Order: sequence, then structure tokens, then C-alpha cells
Amino acid sequence: ILARYLERTPASAAMAETARTMLPSGIAHDARYLKPYNIYTEEAAGSRKWDVDGNEYVDYFGGHGAHLLGHNPPAVVDAVRDALERGTQFGTNHPLEVEWARMVRRLIPCAERVRFTSSGTEATHMALRLARAHTGRPRIARFMTHFHGWHDHMTAGYTSHFDGSATPGVLPEVAKGAALVPPGDVDAMRAALREGDIAAVILEPTGASFGKVPLKPEVLSELRQMTEETGTVLIFDEVITGFRVSAGGAQAAFGVTPDLTTLAKIVAGGMPGGAVVGRQDIMDALDFQAMEAAGREKIDHPGTFNANPVSAAAGIAALNIIAAHDVCGKASAYAARLRDGMNDVLRQHRLRWAVYGTFSGFHIFTNPGGLEIAPDDFDPHALPYDVLKKGNPAVNNKLRLGLLNEGVDVSPWPGGLTSSAHDDADLELTLAAFDRVLGA
Ligand code: PMP
Repeated sequence: ILARYLERTPASAAMAETARTMLPSGIAHDARYLKPYNIYTEEAAGSRKWDVDGNEYVDYFGGHGAHLLGHNPPAVVDAVRDALERGTQFGTNHPLEVEWARMVRRLIPCAERVRFTSSGTEATHMALRLARAHTGRPRIARFMTHFHGWHDHMTAGYTSHFDGSATPGVLPEVAKGAALVPPGDVDAMRAALREGDIAAVILEPTGASFGKVPLKPEVLSELRQMTEETGTVLIFDEVITGFRVSAGGAQAAFGVTPDLTTLAKIVAGGMPGGAVVGRQDIMDALDFQAMEAAGREKIDHPGTFNANPVSAAAGIAALNIIAAHDVCGKASAYAARLRDGMNDVLRQHRLRWAVYGTFSGFHIFTNPGGLEIAPDDFDPHALPYDVLKKGNPAVNNKLRLGLLNEGVDVSPWPGGLTSSAHDDADLELTLAAFDRVLGA
């Protein structure tokens, strides 16, 4: 597998070698790391992308989840081009941000007020600060393995440090500000809330990494009830699920409305951007007039590229499509066929792996412990979170290289996200590729 990869990707290899002399690991995002090097993509369209060696790939990375509509949907490209020609940064308010906020409010149930940011990390950072300001309490409760961006308050307990200890460079007292609860454990969450110092509960509403460690939907209503009873702010981190699980995100799909929601990725139509949205009385902490009237100190929030007009234009164009067409359903239906087809391939190879997931996601469980499981009755809810989360890095790496050799790019966990642009030809190619890689 490795020899073939090296043979197919000499231009990427050369670029990686140069990149390593300037960029740590030669990369800009940890998830783009691959041994011995990852491909360099030159162009993408719809469900496909092309690397600098001219190889074509069916893409399941999906721009880290930003591309529900596939790469470069024409309506989004037109909107971006038009905005770009008018200017990328005005230093004032602009009409597109008002329209963008209107679209977000129309789709996301909890969104009484909207504050745009430049990323999902910034959105969760602000959501936690809003919750502390609103409640006057210091700590945040969260589920282990759930990801909420890379700012200091949320680094422990994602892939490691499940004891809540600080990761390198983070102050121990900041790390202690998060109460880590086993994923989906509502009794442990209730006990944490009883301590009385918890400002907010934050979670990924379909479970860690879009359901890699899945969450039972009834957990959402239980959390809604216990946060209401204790005056705790409930935050859904819908950076992946927002506009993907349904046009109104997981909160619309499951009928549970949180107090705050964080958004990024799809909200900005494939451009950089994010938002924190939610209840007006909580969001008012960002409002000059409201805080002046209340005699309270406002939360400061600058950010040079917040609501930049090009992202706004892309976001509006994408959200208009999502509001008008069942693209979420289309991407989810494709993912269901893909999961079924991949499990068929696993059965043919008599391999004790499983492909699982919900909505427009799929996760490949490579069974590092050699557990007695069968694709037919695989239930990820029955497995410990660390088994689901950890996987086997060497197997994952080899699987990814093998799939790249066959023209398929999956995410490192391994798994991926589907889009409304994936079609029958992509499915056929992917299943044949999976079959050949497992054979190898
Ligand atoms: N929360 C979740 C659930 C995410 O998946 C991500 C990004 N993968 C983030 C927050 C951080 O978003 P960003 O990469 O835009 O900072």
C-alpha cells in the first residue's frame, strides 16, 4: 500500500518536504496529518477533488464538514464572486450580515439573537463566557470525547486527559473550570449540576465527532430538564450538526431547544465563519443598550473578520438552498446506503469491523481489541467511549493510504461526511475501493 502511495503522489511528497521546513509537521490542522505525508489538493468540485499529481478522489472529508452541498456549488460561487468584487472588509456594518442573521434565525429554533464570529472555536469560547456572565457561576460541565474547539477551556478530555488535567500550555486552574462527565451519563451530569457552580452544559447533540461516540436522543430532553431545574445554560454545539442533521440542526430534528447554540462550517457556506446564537436575555450581555439600561458591564467582542461580507454571501446562498430543498435528507440517504454497502463488503471479507453512524456521517470501527462483533448487530452504544474513540492509529493510517490509492479520501478517525452532491457513481467507486483495500 505504501509503495503504491509513494508512486502515485510524487508532487505531494515534494511539497510536503518543503512544507515541513516551514510549517510544523508540514500542516495547518492536526486532522490533515497523515504518515508519511498527506496529499496536496489543487482543485475540487461537487463530490470530487484533485491533487497536485492529477489523481482524482471522491471526497468524504467534506471541508471538515463545511460542504453539505459538495464543493463549489454554483449558487455559492456566484454569490462569493459578487461579494468579492464589492470588497472583503468594510469596517462597518453591511447589508449581507443582516440577511445572514435573518436566515440563521429562520432556521435555528433557539436563535433569538445572533453574533457572528470567525470560527467554531470562537463561537464556543463566547458561548461559555455568555453562560458564566449570565449565571455568575464559574464552571462548565461537558461530556468526555465531545469536541468544542481548541481554546484553553475545552482542551482536556477530548482525545486524552480524561481526568481533566491540563494539556501542554494550558493553566491548571483553567482546566479545572471544566467538569468532565462520561458521555451520555445523565446521572453523573445531574450530580455535577448539584455542585451548584456549573454555568453551562455544552455538548455535541448527536454525540462526539458527529456520533462516533453516539448519544441517545433521550439524553437531550433529560439534559433540557435538569438544566432548567438548576438554572444552568444548555449549549448545543452544532458546529457540525447545524444545517446538516436537518435545516434547523439537531435541535429541530429532536425537538429539544437549547438556550445557546454554536454554529460554524455550513453556516458560512464553505467560507470561514461561525456564530453563537440563542436566547435574547443571555445574548443581551453583548448588547450595548441592554447592558447600559441594566447597569451591567458588557462582554467585549471585537474580531476583525466577524461577519465578513464574503462569508456572509456564501452563507446566505448555502442556507437558501438548505431551506428550500431537502439536501440534508439527500446527504443522509446517501450515507445510509454507503454504510450498508461498506458493511456488506466487511461481511464478504469476514472482517470483524463495522461501519456505523447516523444522518450524513459514517464511522469505520476497526475493532482494535478484536472484540466479538458482527456488522449485522453492531451497537456502538454498547461499547466504552475510549474503545470507540481511540481506534488503532496504525490501521487507520494504512486504511487511509489504501483508500487514497483507490481514489477515496476519508477523515482520520476514520470515517467521513457525505454531501448532497454524492451520487451513485461515487457510491460504486467507494465500495469497490473499500473492497480492494481490504483485500490488500
Ligand atoms: N465544535 C465542533 C463540534 C466541531 O466539530 C468543531 C470543528 N471540527 C469546532 C467546534 C471548532 O470549529 P472551528 O474548527 O471552526 O474552530
